[in-house]
This record gives sequence, structure tokens and C-alpha cells, in this order.
Amino acid sequence: ALDTAWAVRWVRAAADAMAEHRRELIDLDRAIGDGDHGENMDRGFSAAREKLEEEFAGPGAVLKMVAMTLMSKVGGAAGPLYGTAFLRAATSLGDADASAEAVAAALTAARDGVVSRGKAEVGDATMVDAWTPAVDAATQAASAGDSPAAVLAAAADAAQTGAESTDELQARKGRASYLGERSVGHRDPGAVSTVLLLRAAADAAA
Ligand code: ADP
Ligand code: MG
Ligand code: MG
Repeated sequence: ALDTAWAVRWVRAAADAMAEHRRELIDLDRAIGDGDHGENMDRGFSAAREKLEEEFAGPGAVLKMVAMTLMSKVGGAAGPLYGTAFLRAATSLGDADASAEAVAAALTAARDGVVSRGKAEVGDATMVDAWTPAVDAATQAASAGDSPAAVLAAAADAAQTGAESTDELQARKGRASYLGERSVGHRDPGAVSTVLLLRAAADAAA
């Protein structure tokens, strides 16, 4: 089951991933946005990592701390979007150890939060193109009886395919949409950071 220690490992792994992929996310965002996505994510998750010494009542409390940190430290589009995702996931998960069904439900809540905040649909070339296939794969894996770790791994794999699908899409939300057709041929940076986050969650559960 996914417990507080898992959530803490997730935040550490996410902070490592954002630091490691900072340059890649900056370059992706420089091509179709303002070039700050890597910096935003690295700043947000390194701030969250610094708060891991606190006592947490359960996994939901860890994710709530992440939500608050992202909302206060990460500006732009991604801060409020990921802040909402983590807050909704925290509420859905609660502080009991999470089952496969509970983690699939938490991912669904996170994605619904991103959609309610940003109003993007699948095909708009945003992080939703990674989140939605991830949620579908996680839901399917959970109902097939897979372990929580396998549910997260399925989510990360599907998110990767979804992020790749943004290469050929025209951006219809966020800064990249200002480019119109010139956004085609570029991978969405927020979809890539979503893959990193879900991969970190899966690795932390493995
Ligand atoms: P900003 O664009 O304000 O500089 P970031 O560069 O940190 O913010 O984040 C950009 C990412 O945010 C995009 O790659 C995209 O995935 C995501 N994004 C932007 N607007 C939306 C939206 N309305 N719905 C979903 N995701 C969005
Ligand atoms: Mg940006
Ligand atoms: Mg910006």
C-alpha cells in the first residue's frame, strides 16, 4: 500500500527529476513559450523537498504540503495547475494507506482539477494530453487487480505516449497557443513534466 513514506519518496524523486530535466524543460518551453518551465518546476519541487522534515499525518498531508508549496513558489500557468492537481489528489487520497483503486481515484481527481482550472481538453497540446491517458490506464489497471505500484507504472507509461502525441498537435491553450500553427512540431513542456512526476510516483512505489 502507498503510505506516508511513499509520498515522501515521491517528492524526493520528483525534485531529483525536475533538477535533472531542468534544461530539457527550459528548452521545450523556449521553443513554444517563455522558457521558464524547467526553472519553475525545479524551484517548486526543491522548495517542497525542503519541507519533508515536517511530521505528516499520512500521504494526503504530504501531497497537500506539495500543493501549497507549488501554489506559493511556482508562478505562471504550471503553479496553479499542479497546485490544484496535488490539492485534489491529497483530498481524494486522505491519510490512510492507499490501495490501487485509491491511487487511480487520486490521479483522476488530480486530472479533473487541472481541467477545471485550465479548461483544456485532450488534443489541445497541454499537460492534459499526458494526464488523461494516464488516468485511463491507471483506472484500467486498478480494475484489473494490479498493485498500486503497477497502477502508477501504467499511468507513467501512458503519460509518456500522451506527451509524445503533443508533437503533432497545435496548441490551443496557454502561451504556446499564441504561436498558432507554428506550435506544431514541438512537444508540450507541461506534458513532459507530468510524465516526470508520474514516473517519480511509480519509482517511489516500486
Ligand atoms: P507559463 O506558460 O505561464 O510560463 P509554464 O511554462 O510553467 O507556465 O507552464 C507551461 C505549461 O502549462 C504548458 O506546457 C502546458 O502544459 C500547461 N498549460 C498552460 N495552460 C494550460 C491550460 N489552460 N490547461 C492545461 N495546461 C496548461
Ligand atoms: Mg513558461
Ligand atoms: Mg512563464
